[in-house]
Amino acid sequence: HYRCRSAFKLLEIDDKLHILRPGLSVLDCGAAPGAWSQVAVQRVNALGTDPAVPTGFVLGVDLLRISPLEGAVFLSEADIADPSTLRSIQSLLPAEKVDVILSDMAPNATGIKELDHQKQINLCLGLLNLSQSILKPKGTMLCKFWDGYESHLLQNRLKEQFQDVRTIKPHASRKDSAESYYLARLYKGK
Ligand code: SAM
Repeated sequence: HYRCRSAFKLLEIDDKLHILRPGLSVLDCGAAPGAWSQVAVQRVNALGTDPAVPTGFVLGVDLLRISPLEGAVFLSEADIADPSTLRSIQSLLPAEKVDVILSDMAPNATGIKELDHQKQINLCLGLLNLSQSILKPKGTMLCKFWDGYESHLLQNRLKEQFQDVRTIKPHASRKDSAESYYLARLYKGK
């Protein structure tokens, strides 16, 4: 009943590293078709299904249209790299900042490996800049990257801004050999 098999990557990462919990507020970047948002809605209790624990919030953003999902707010046809998107995100958040930024974003592949890698890293670096405005101190960022010569640049930038940065390769990602995730925790804030 998940919209996409990518759900299993987030479930696997979260089962092991516990980044989502009831009451947290989540920004899901590159959310279409919405499988990660489905997982996030469940794990942060965005629908208030369990009245015994706090109720969280999920906002998904994508260049594409995302079909409505109970418990999530979607900002469709929005480019995360566009400055006006930041203002739209801020207007949709219940508080000024979120606890967790998820990014499963992937640029359209050109087939030129180096170029795709560079575009991917630039997307993540752009998102890291946005963190200043939308991520709470001590917050978490999980972002997909494709391994290549510029990965260390992104990793170093994350290490400057977060106390704990690790690289994750979910089993569910194994078929895509270049795909990994950086999990950056304890945002130092600015
Ligand atoms: N995590 C999603 C799920 O579980 O349903 C799958 C995400 S899919 C692998 C990557 C998405 O990133 C695509 O839908 C694409 O449109 C989106 N994307 C790529 N560049 C983007 C950008 N600049 N702004 C917003 N979304 C972007």
